[in-house]
Amino acid sequence: MTTAPDPAAPLVFDTAELGRSSGTTMHVALEVPAPAGLGLAGYEVPESAPLDLDFHLTAVSEGVLADGTVAAVAEGECARCLAPVEDALNVQVQELYAYEGSVTDATTEADEILRLSGDLLDLEPAVRDALVLAMPVTPLCRPDCPGLCADCGVPWDELPDDHVHETVDPRWAGLEKLRLADTDGESK
Ligand SMILES: [Zn+2]
Ligand SMILES: [Zn+2]
Repeated sequence: MTTAPDPAAPLVFDTAELGRSSGTTMHVALEVPAPAGLGLAGYEVPESAPLDLDFHLTAVSEGVLADGTVAAVAEGECARCLAPVEDALNVQVQELYAYEGSVTDATTEADEILRLSGDLLDLEPAVRDALVLAMPVTPLCRPDCPGLCADCGVPWDELPDDHVHETVDPRWAGLEKLRLADTDGESK
């Protein structure tokens, strides 16, 4: 049993005007502040950033169908060079919210099909799922980001093409050790 949605929450809508009459629809087009935790560590839609909603809420026999789009800007850092990354996300959402006491309510789990709470429809879980699904597993500042130099940690973008560190290749270092062991009769 989930807790009842807060009627004052920005993503909770009262569908009473639909009167549970199949085919009746209401249009919800507005900007709301993003709830907290909309994303993953290092890449998310910041709390209170604008979420642009454009939805139709339509009464169907078993509940209310929420169908529309949500647009938001996600921010994070590039997984390779740690530069700030900003992506405009625009995702489709289509989710059935079952009426309490409907056949769907009786025959499915709440984590399979979302529920209305009375006439209140909480868009947050549907919007959250759709946005998180649209987020990249590995955020990049650009697809071919070369990342950082493993030796000095400076982004390759800021280094000259011939940037090198004077280090002995470990494979050659191994050979050198063998050679020394040969001449000295002992390993170094
Ligand atoms: Zn990068
Ligand atoms: Zn370097």
